[in-house]
Amino acid sequence: MTHWPKISAIISDLDGVTYRGDEPIESAVRVFQRWNHIGLPYAFVTNNSTKSAEEFSVKLNAMGIPADPARIITTSAVAADRLSDLLEPRSRVMVIGAQALVRAVANRDFEIADEDVDAVIAGLDRSFTYEKLTRAQAALLGGAHFIGTNPDTMLPKGGGFEPGAGSILKAIEAASGVTPIIIGKPEPDLVTMALSILGTDRQSTFMLGDQIMTDIAAGHAAGLPTIRVRTGVIEKDPPSISPDFDIESLECIPVDAFSTSKAL
Ligand SMILES: [Mg+2]
Repeated sequence: MTHWPKISAIISDLDGVTYRGDEPIESAVRVFQRWNHIGLPYAFVTNNSTKSAEEFSVKLNAMGIPADPARIITTSAVAADRLSDLLEPRSRVMVIGAQALVRAVANRDFEIADEDVDAVIAGLDRSFTYEKLTRAQAALLGGAHFIGTNPDTMLPKGGGFEPGAGSILKAIEAASGVTPIIIGKPEPDLVTMALSILGTDRQSTFMLGDQIMTDIAAGHAAGLPTIRVRTGVIEKDPPSISPDFDIESLECIPVDAFSTSKAL
C-alpha cells in the first residue's frame, strides 16, 4: 500500500479535477466538501483566462464545492499582475482575449487600446481575427511587450478539441517574431501565488491536477509534491516527468493523510 506523507494543504487544478466542462466530478465534490469540513486549506489554479475568480467561485459553489474567490488564482489575474511589473500606471495595453482578461487589465489602471500600445496581452479569444493579428503584429514590431496567459494549444471539448490560447499566441509569434512571456502552467507563477495566499509549507502543500505536462510540471517547477488524478485528460505520450502520487479519484487519498486539527 502506498505510503502517504502528511498533507497540510492542496493547490488544485479545476477542469478535469473538480468538473469536466459543465459536469461536476461527483467524487471530487464529496472530497472537497470533506476537506472544507475538516478545515484543510485549499486553493485553485487555472489556465482558463475566460472567467474571473468570482465567476469560477459561483460555478464551483453551484456544483457543491465550497470555493472562496480569494483562493482562486486565474491566469488572467496573474498575467495582469505581470503587466503591472513591466509598465507604468496608465500605460496603453492591447488585449486579445475574453472579457475576463479585459477586466483584469482594466482593473489595474491601464488604458485598453488598439494602437500605440506598450504591451500586448493575449489569451483565449473565440473571436480572434486576421485584423487583430495584424494589429498585434504592428504593436510587437514596434517594440511592445508580449504576455501570454497560457500555452495550451488544444482544449478538450466534447469528444474532440478546440484551439486554446497557445494556438493564438503561436500565430502572433509567427507573425511578429516575438516570443511571449507565458504565465500559466507549466510555469510556476500560479502555483507560487496560490502558495503565498495559503501561507502553508512548500513541503506539505500538494499540487493536484489531471495533466502531467501542465499541472504536475508547474507543481515541480514551484517545488511542491504532486498528485495526478485520472479524472480528466490522460496524456497519450509517456510524459518526461512523473507525479509523486498517481490516483484514479480523489477518494483514493486516505483520510488520515491530512494534518488538520478537526476530527473526521
Ligand atoms: Mg485540468
